[in-house]
Amino acid sequence: MPTNGPDTIFREGLSEGKINIQKCTDCNRHIFFPRVHCPHCYASSLEWHEATGKGIVYSTTVVHRKPERGGDYNVALIDLSEGVRMMSRVEGIAPAEVSIGMPVIAFVGDVDGAPGVLFKPSEPMKELGNE
Ligand SMILES: [Zn+2]
Repeated sequence: MPTNGPDTIFREGLSEGKINIQKCTDCNRHIFFPRVHCPHCYASSLEWHEATGKGIVYSTTVVHRKPERGGDYNVALIDLSEGVRMMSRVEGIAPAEVSIGMPVIAFVGDVDGAPGVLFKPSEPMKELGNE
């Protein structure tokens, strides 16, 4: 595998705190996971763009884990506004309170010891305003 392949470019973006996804310049669709060819039209004219990070929870599952191993966590499929679906985790909220249709925002966080894409609710932030 070439070291400058799409997976590497994606991971390098994450290490800089950026969530980069590809867009096919032939059919104008966004693509995730990173690929060499567009899965829709098989063109290889793919451009990288930084994702907006805005998403909606498509499905959500609570994975039960013993408290001494970190407690329950959430696995969710998120539809990004670019039209791609990511499997990830929604943090900053109890795992069971993540609901389908919830607006979320992506951020780069620690996933199993490496930078990865996580999500948090994009509802009003308590720290800001209402004074
Ligand atoms: Zn395409």
